[in-house]
Amino acid sequence: MSACEVCGEDVAELQACRQCGVRFCTECGYFNKHLCLDCGSIEEESQEEEAEDVLEESTQIEGEKTYGETPEQNEEIKSALK
Ligand SMILES: [Zn+2]
Ligand SMILES: [Zn+2]
Repeated sequence: MSACEVCGEDVAELQACRQCGVRFCTECGYFNKHLCLDCGSIEEESQEEEAEDVLEESTQIEGEKTYGETPEQNEEIKSALK
């Protein structure tokens, strides 16, 4: 049996945090994320990065968008941009 490095409790199962390496029990971190409570909450705050990824994706879709309403208009605008 090993002790949780966060609360000092002897528990059967410990997980090592992938950020800071602290070994924590189920009470002291997120087993599914491999993160202690501290690093897990930082992770949640950095969700903005994920939002940016989504934005980039939608920008790519935007780039494939046609310029005009009809294919004719589209060609006209495209040749005007050259
Ligand atoms: Zn603990
Ligand atoms: Zn950590």
